[in-house]
Amino acid sequence: MIHGSPARFDIISASMARLQRFLDVSVPLAPGVPTYPGNPPFELEPIKRIANGDSSNVSRMVIGTHTATHVDAPLHFFQDAAGVDSLALELLIGRARVVDMPRRGGITAEDLAAAGLREDLRVLFKTPNSALWNGGGFKQDYTHLTESAARYLVEQGVKVVGVDYLSVEEFKKPGAPAHRALLSQGVVIIEGLNLSDAEPGMYELYCLPLRVAGADGAPARVVLKR
Ligand SMILES: [Zn+2]
Repeated sequence: MIHGSPARFDIISASMARLQRFLDVSVPLAPGVPTYPGNPPFELEPIKRIANGDSSNVSRMVIGTHTATHVDAPLHFFQDAAGVDSLALELLIGRARVVDMPRRGGITAEDLAAAGLREDLRVLFKTPNSALWNGGGFKQDYTHLTESAARYLVEQGVKVVGVDYLSVEEFKKPGAPAHRALLSQGVVIIEGLNLSDAEPGMYELYCLPLRVAGADGAPARVVLKR
């Protein structure tokens, strides 16, 4: 039995804090989670319910391939290109840097040069976007990568780029130049992260998109290990 005295609670909190080596930076899949316009809203529908006399609880999900935290495959913007099940696990798991990018609007190559990427293979951008998950629907004025920034990342040898809203791209940008610059060079794009609780710095990244055969993207559980 756990007594509710403040002292006891403090002891439990302190020991839990030591155990918390993993930071879940995935956005929960829940009804009402914002989706990019034109993508299907998330649904979770009961199919079988113990409360109704069924032997178990079973549900049906409706989910887009680019809903909440997800990975883009080259097939997202290039016909006949690789699907999400072809992405290398060697890229999706490994050392990653969370970079603080507190600006709004378009991130440029100059911003990235100032951020001082140091031979990083995997970079996750923490921007004001992470606060957009706190409520309300889809926001159009999220921070995004410009084409120059995407090309800079490719030139620097970055292989995994993560952003904390539903697109690396400016909203409705014709031709999707940032996506194309990255995906055409085999760069993995992780979108829909929530980096609110991630201090800038180095982590071990675990990004595991569902193994959906031939899909243009897939929802992913993304965890950072301190
Ligand atoms: Zn995308």
